[in-house]
Amino acid sequence: MAVKLPFPSKGGEGAGVLGEPIRFILNWGRRYSLWVFNFGLACCAIEFIAASMSRHDFIRLGVIPFAHSPRQSDLMVVSGTVTDKMAPAIKRLYDQMPEPKYVISFGACSNSGGPYWDSYCVTKGVDQIIPVDVYVPGCPPRPEALLYGITELQRKIGDEPLGRRSAASLRAPLRRRDG
Ligand code: SF4
Repeated sequence: MAVKLPFPSKGGEGAGVLGEPIRFILNWGRRYSLWVFNFGLACCAIEFIAASMSRHDFIRLGVIPFAHSPRQSDLMVVSGTVTDKMAPAIKRLYDQMPEPKYVISFGACSNSGGPYWDSYCVTKGVDQIIPVDVYVPGCPPRPEALLYGITELQRKIGDEPLGRRSAASLRAPLRRRDG
C-alpha cells in the first residue's frame, strides 16, 4: 500500500519515504537560521545596515546578523564595489565558510561593477570569484530589495535536494579574471 506523505516530493539524492521528510526538515532549519556575514565595501553596505535595524528588521525572517567570523556563517552578503585588490580576500573568506553556504550579491557594483564597470581596478561582478545565489539590483537597492532577495534565497534553499550543497563544494573553482 502506498504511503502518502505530507511533504511534496522534490526528488534528488536521498529522496524517498524517509529522505523526503528529512530533506524538508533540514532545509526548513537552514532557511530560517541564516547567520549572515556582511562584506560591506561601499555605499550599499549602509543599506544592508538599514535592513538589519528595527524599521526593516531582517531578523524576523530568520537572518541572524553579526556572525563572529566566516567560520560561523551560512550567508555572505557582498555589498559595494569589489576591487581587484580586494577580490582575493573575498575568495579567502568565502572559502573559510562551512557548507552549506550561500551568497547574495547586493547592488549594481557587486553584480557587475556598477558605475565603475570600466575602471581598471574594479572586478566586473563578484561572481567572477565566488558563486552567487541571488543578485539584488539597484544603485543602491533599498532595504526592501534585500528583504526580497532573502526570501528568494529561502525559497531556493527550501527546494534544494539532499546532497546538492556537498556536491557544489566539490565543483571546480569559478573562472578568474586574467591579468
Ligand atoms: S551600487 Fe551604487 S550605491 Fe552601491 S556601492 Fe555601487 S555606487 Fe555605491
